[in-house]
Amino acid sequence: MTTPLIARTTADLRQTVATWRRAGERVALVPTMGALHPGHISLVDLGRASAGRVVTSIFVNPTQFAPNEDFSKYPRTFDADVERLGKAGCDLVFAPSPDVMYGHGFATTISLEGPARAGLEDAFRPTHFAGVATVVAKLLIQCGPDIAIFGEKDFQQLAVIARMARDLDMPVEILGAPTLREADGLAMSSRNVYLSAAERAAAPALHRVLQDCAARIARGETFESVLAQGRAEIEKAGFKLDYLELRDAASLAAPGSDPKAALRLLAAARMGATRLIDNVHARQAQES
Ligand code: AMP
Repeated sequence: MTTPLIARTTADLRQTVATWRRAGERVALVPTMGALHPGHISLVDLGRASAGRVVTSIFVNPTQFAPNEDFSKYPRTFDADVERLGKAGCDLVFAPSPDVMYGHGFATTISLEGPARAGLEDAFRPTHFAGVATVVAKLLIQCGPDIAIFGEKDFQQLAVIARMARDLDMPVEILGAPTLREADGLAMSSRNVYLSAAERAAAPALHRVLQDCAARIARGETFESVLAQGRAEIEKAGFKLDYLELRDAASLAAPGSDPKAALRLLAAARMGATRLIDNVHARQAQES
């Protein structure tokens, strides 16, 4: 158990990272919005396995929430988060205020195409990825890590960030980490606390249907019939479906004709007032 340092300003963050750099240490960054659960901690563990120092940022980023979304009621559990991070061996928690991140006159946004326009999350949250990419770009510039770690749970986000880092020649390695799940398959999420007991009991159906669809695709069934049945199953389980789609895992475009390319099944669905997302691989990439 360590007590992580807490930096509230970019200057404080940079000062500590600079002392580590002078000692020749590698640095990993794990960006989060707090309300930490074991899924987040698995990212910190991966950071520790890949670098001598781990920074976790906690910032509920207002610009990635639309006005009708849950920014004001998003769970905030800062003290418990810091304790968990200490137990996980995180060295520094970067917790800036909105004013530190978006000073007076702030006027810059990252503009995205490609995976950010795949017709998945972006179709339902049209301003979301510009907010995410801008804040992640800032965090990468503020911290200057060797590695930044993102969960596959937010698969489109991971693709958007990886694309941005490549396109802008950011000197950082973007690492994806597998989704941690509850015993019944529900992907861990800070938003799961919104679910009532009945909704929580129904929610694992989303992952069950994804897995079922992936198995049928692996058996060679036609994509469209698998997707049509999967969509009906998700609705039958009590969700209002936003999308269930099969995509090329790298570009997030519709599957091409290459039978060896990796495919991903992605879904978003609302259970009562709570919107859940999940994804599974539907076909692994095969060596030619
Ligand atoms: P958030 O705090 O929800 O913005 O998530 C911060 C990071 O944790 C993102 O990279 C997420 O993809 C990742 N994450 C969230 N839930 C999980 C999970 N169940 N397993 C692994 N990573 C996750």
